[in-house]
Amino acid sequence: MISSLRERITKISASLPPSVRLIAVSKTFPSEDIRAAYAAGIRDFGENRIQEAASKQAELQDLADITWHFIGRLQSNKAKNAIELFDWIHSVDSLKLAQRLNQLAQQLGVTPRICLQVKILPDPNKGGWTVPELLHDLPALNQCKNLQIQGLMTIPPLGLNDAEIVNVFDSTYKLAQAIKEQNWSHVKMEELSMGMSGDYQLGVQAGATMVRLGTILFGDRS
Ligand SMILES: *Cc1c(COP(=O)(O)O)cnc(C)c1O
Repeated sequence: MISSLRERITKISASLPPSVRLIAVSKTFPSEDIRAAYAAGIRDFGENRIQEAASKQAELQDLADITWHFIGRLQSNKAKNAIELFDWIHSVDSLKLAQRLNQLAQQLGVTPRICLQVKILPDPNKGGWTVPELLHDLPALNQCKNLQIQGLMTIPPLGLNDAEIVNVFDSTYKLAQAIKEQNWSHVKMEELSMGMSGDYQLGVQAGATMVRLGTILFGDRS
């Protein structure tokens, strides 16, 4: 390895505007790697499987100030685990899931932060609201008072060129602005979770407030 994890974290952190939160996506990597990233200053970690996250968190209990972000597809039967284990859920992809999380959050007496996952372009491999669907569901989402709806998350379909990716991110930004102008009491649009290892710079240029970086920090996932 040419550069160390610490060097990569330092370099990428320095390249990001201070307003952008770097989430280290540690899925498939062991808790020792999380520890090393923590030692290099990272406090936000992203995982996409409940079981895997639960066992890593158990090994990392001494690192009490980690903020955990769930970024994977969330099945309804794992919703309770997700709320218990994670501070943020970026991948809320349907009204039904939002309402389930809201109900569970009320029962558990917590108010998880969430992002609404949107699909700007059709993508059979991903969940999320299309733009018209999301606009339609906003009144019902606004009723989910136990959720702190913070903004939008998007993942461009695979195989786009840079200009097409920029379009997806710009459209997501504009959608957030349009929703913001509607002044919902419980749907905030302060956060945009946009950008992974291959496209985070485009995300930042388009107004991302959170980037989700795995490979570029930890290396290839086997
Ligand atoms: C795996 C994953 C990432 C990180 O991807 P890299 O290309 O390794 O940076 C980001 N977001 C989501 C939703 C992911 O599943």
